[in-house]
Amino acid sequence: MTPTITLAQGDITRQNADAIVNAANSSLLGGGGVDGAIHRRGGPAILEECRALRASRYGRGLPTGRAVATTAGELAARWVIHTVGPVYRAPGGDPSLLASCYRECLRVADELGARTVAFPAVSTGAYGWPLDDAARIAVQAVRETDTDVEEVRFVLFDERAYEAFAAQVD
Ligand code: ADP
Repeated sequence: MTPTITLAQGDITRQNADAIVNAANSSLLGGGGVDGAIHRRGGPAILEECRALRASRYGRGLPTGRAVATTAGELAARWVIHTVGPVYRAPGGDPSLLASCYRECLRVADELGARTVAFPAVSTGAYGWPLDDAARIAVQAVRETDTDVEEVRFVLFDERAYEAFAAQVD
Protein backbone atom coordinates (compact mmCIF):
# COMPACT_ATOMS: atom_id res chain seq x y z
CA MET A 1 0.00 0.00 0.00
CA THR A 2 1.00 3.62 -0.24
CA PRO A 3 0.17 5.98 2.62
CA THR A 4 -2.21 8.90 2.59
CA ILE A 5 -0.20 12.12 2.58
CA THR A 6 -1.32 14.96 4.83
CA LEU A 7 0.28 18.32 5.61
CA ALA A 8 0.52 20.32 8.82
CA GLN A 9 2.26 23.54 9.69
CA GLY A 10 4.07 23.89 13.02
CA ASP A 11 6.44 22.23 15.43
CA ILE A 12 6.92 18.53 14.81
CA THR A 13 7.52 17.84 18.51
CA ARG A 14 3.86 18.74 19.16
CA GLN A 15 2.49 16.18 16.75
CA ASN A 16 0.40 13.22 17.77
CA ALA A 17 1.74 10.46 15.57
CA ASP A 18 3.01 6.97 16.26
CA ALA A 19 6.46 8.07 15.15
CA ILE A 20 8.09 11.40 14.41
CA VAL A 21 11.16 11.66 12.24
CA ASN A 22 14.25 13.53 13.37
CA ALA A 23 16.39 15.33 10.80
CA ALA A 24 19.48 14.18 12.68
CA ASN A 25 23.16 14.31 11.87
CA SER A 26 25.29 11.23 11.68
CA SER A 27 26.68 11.66 15.20
CA LEU A 28 23.16 11.02 16.61
CA LEU A 29 24.27 13.17 19.51
CA GLY A 30 22.06 16.19 18.91
CA GLY A 31 22.19 19.37 16.89
CA GLY A 32 20.06 22.37 16.00
CA GLY A 33 16.74 22.68 14.18
CA VAL A 34 14.43 19.67 14.47
CA ASP A 35 17.12 17.69 16.30
CA GLY A 36 17.50 20.30 19.01
CA ALA A 37 13.73 20.63 19.44
CA ILE A 38 13.23 16.87 19.76
CA HIS A 39 15.91 16.46 22.40
CA ARG A 40 14.75 19.55 24.31
CA ARG A 41 11.13 18.49 24.52
CA GLY A 42 11.71 14.74 24.59
CA GLY A 43 14.11 14.80 27.53
CA PRO A 44 17.33 12.86 28.16
CA ALA A 45 16.01 9.33 27.45
CA ILE A 46 16.29 9.83 23.69
CA LEU A 47 19.90 10.96 23.86
CA GLU A 48 20.78 8.05 26.12
CA GLU A 49 19.44 5.64 23.52
CA CYS A 50 21.28 7.47 20.79
CA ARG A 51 24.50 7.14 22.76
CA ALA A 52 23.88 3.41 23.14
CA LEU A 53 23.36 3.11 19.38
CA ARG A 54 26.67 4.86 18.79
CA ALA A 55 28.36 2.48 21.23
CA SER A 56 26.89 -0.58 19.51
CA ARG A 57 25.57 -0.59 15.94
CA TYR A 58 26.78 2.78 14.70
CA GLY A 59 30.25 3.34 16.06
CA ARG A 60 31.11 5.50 13.06
CA GLY A 61 27.79 7.30 13.05
CA LEU A 62 24.54 6.73 11.19
CA PRO A 63 25.27 6.89 7.45
CA THR A 64 23.50 9.46 5.27
CA GLY A 65 20.22 8.15 3.89
CA ARG A 66 19.73 5.60 6.66
CA ALA A 67 17.31 5.55 9.62
CA VAL A 68 17.17 4.13 13.12
CA ALA A 69 14.51 4.31 15.84
CA THR A 70 14.56 5.15 19.53
CA THR A 71 11.77 5.66 22.00
CA ALA A 72 10.36 9.17 22.17
CA GLY A 73 10.94 10.06 25.82
CA GLU A 74 8.40 12.61 26.97
CA LEU A 75 7.00 13.32 23.51
CA ALA A 76 3.47 12.28 22.59
CA ALA A 77 4.78 9.98 19.87
CA ARG A 78 5.88 6.43 20.73
CA TRP A 79 9.04 6.50 18.65
CA VAL A 80 11.53 8.88 17.11
CA ILE A 81 13.00 7.69 13.83
CA HIS A 82 16.34 9.40 13.26
CA THR A 83 17.54 9.88 9.72
CA VAL A 84 20.50 11.72 8.23
CA GLY A 85 19.74 13.81 5.17
CA PRO A 86 22.38 14.66 2.59
CA VAL A 87 24.01 18.08 2.64
CA TYR A 88 23.18 20.20 -0.40
CA ARG A 89 26.25 21.63 -2.05
CA ALA A 90 26.26 23.55 -5.27
CA PRO A 91 25.61 22.36 -7.91
CA GLY A 92 23.56 19.87 -5.87
CA GLY A 93 23.31 17.07 -3.39
CA ASP A 94 22.52 13.46 -4.18
CA PRO A 95 18.73 13.24 -4.57
CA SER A 96 18.77 9.45 -4.23
CA LEU A 97 20.15 9.85 -0.70
CA LEU A 98 17.35 12.25 0.21
CA ALA A 99 14.76 9.84 -1.20
CA SER A 100 16.46 7.06 0.75
CA CYS A 101 15.81 8.91 4.03
CA TYR A 102 12.06 8.71 3.44
CA ARG A 103 12.13 5.10 2.25
CA GLU A 104 14.31 3.96 5.14
CA CYS A 105 12.15 5.75 7.72
CA LEU A 106 9.08 4.00 6.35
CA ARG A 107 10.88 0.66 6.45
CA VAL A 108 11.80 1.23 10.10
CA ALA A 109 8.21 2.37 10.79
CA ASP A 110 6.97 -0.91 9.35
CA GLU A 111 9.32 -2.84 11.63
CA LEU A 112 7.95 -0.92 14.61
CA GLY A 113 4.33 -1.26 13.52
CA ALA A 114 3.85 2.52 13.32
CA ARG A 115 0.81 3.54 11.29
CA THR A 116 1.17 7.33 11.39
CA VAL A 117 4.52 8.97 10.76
CA ALA A 118 5.30 12.69 10.90
CA PHE A 119 8.23 13.92 8.81
CA PRO A 120 9.97 17.29 8.79
CA ALA A 121 11.40 18.63 5.54
CA VAL A 122 14.66 16.72 5.84
CA SER A 123 17.82 18.53 4.66
CA THR A 124 16.07 21.90 4.09
CA GLY A 125 17.47 23.66 7.15
CA ALA A 126 21.13 23.54 8.11
CA TYR A 127 21.78 21.14 5.22
CA GLY A 128 20.64 23.74 2.71
CA TRP A 129 18.50 21.76 0.25
CA PRO A 130 16.18 24.06 -1.77
CA LEU A 131 12.62 23.59 -0.49
CA ASP A 132 10.81 23.05 -3.77
CA ASP A 133 13.21 20.36 -4.88
CA ALA A 134 13.24 18.69 -1.45
CA ALA A 135 9.43 18.67 -1.40
CA ARG A 136 9.29 17.03 -4.85
CA ILE A 137 11.78 14.34 -3.83
CA ALA A 138 10.04 13.71 -0.50
CA VAL A 139 6.54 13.34 -1.94
CA GLN A 140 7.72 11.17 -4.81
CA ALA A 141 9.69 8.89 -2.48
CA VAL A 142 6.69 8.38 -0.21
CA ARG A 143 4.39 7.71 -3.15
CA GLU A 144 6.77 5.08 -4.50
CA THR A 145 7.20 3.21 -1.21
CA ASP A 146 5.21 0.10 -0.42
CA THR A 147 4.47 0.30 3.31
CA ASP A 148 1.88 -0.52 5.97
CA VAL A 149 2.10 3.07 7.23
CA GLU A 150 -1.34 4.56 6.68
CA GLU A 151 -0.61 8.26 7.07
CA VAL A 152 2.52 10.23 6.27
CA ARG A 153 2.20 13.72 7.67
CA PHE A 154 4.67 16.31 6.49
CA VAL A 155 5.07 18.87 9.25
CA LEU A 156 6.36 22.13 7.87
CA PHE A 157 7.74 24.76 10.15
CA ASP A 158 6.71 27.85 8.23
CA GLU A 159 4.34 28.91 5.52
CA ARG A 160 6.90 28.85 2.74
CA ALA A 161 7.74 25.23 3.46
CA TYR A 162 4.06 24.38 3.73
CA GLU A 163 3.37 25.92 0.32
CA ALA A 164 6.28 24.04 -1.25
CA PHE A 165 4.84 20.72 -0.09
CA ALA A 166 1.26 21.69 -0.89
CA ALA A 167 2.31 22.35 -4.49
CA GLN A 168 3.53 18.73 -4.75
CA VAL A 169 0.55 17.12 -3.08
CA ASP A 170 -2.32 18.95 -4.83
P1 ADP B 1 18.67 19.48 8.22
O1 ADP B 1 19.98 19.50 8.99
O2 ADP B 1 18.31 18.10 7.73
O3 ADP B 1 18.63 20.53 7.17
P2 ADP B 1 17.07 21.08 10.10
O4 ADP B 1 16.52 20.60 11.40
O5 ADP B 1 18.13 22.13 10.15
O6 ADP B 1 17.56 19.75 9.34
O7 ADP B 1 15.90 21.62 9.18
C1 ADP B 1 14.98 20.81 8.50
C2 ADP B 1 13.67 21.56 8.32
O8 ADP B 1 12.93 21.52 9.52
C3 ADP B 1 13.82 23.04 7.98
O9 ADP B 1 12.85 23.34 6.96
C4 ADP B 1 13.47 23.75 9.28
O10 ADP B 1 12.88 25.02 9.05
C5 ADP B 1 12.45 22.82 9.87
N1 ADP B 1 12.30 22.84 11.34
C6 ADP B 1 13.14 23.35 12.27
N2 ADP B 1 12.64 23.14 13.51
C7 ADP B 1 11.46 22.44 13.34
C8 ADP B 1 10.46 21.94 14.22
N3 ADP B 1 10.54 22.07 15.56
N4 ADP B 1 9.39 21.28 13.68
C9 ADP B 1 9.28 21.13 12.34
N5 ADP B 1 10.19 21.59 11.46
C10 ADP B 1 11.25 22.26 11.95
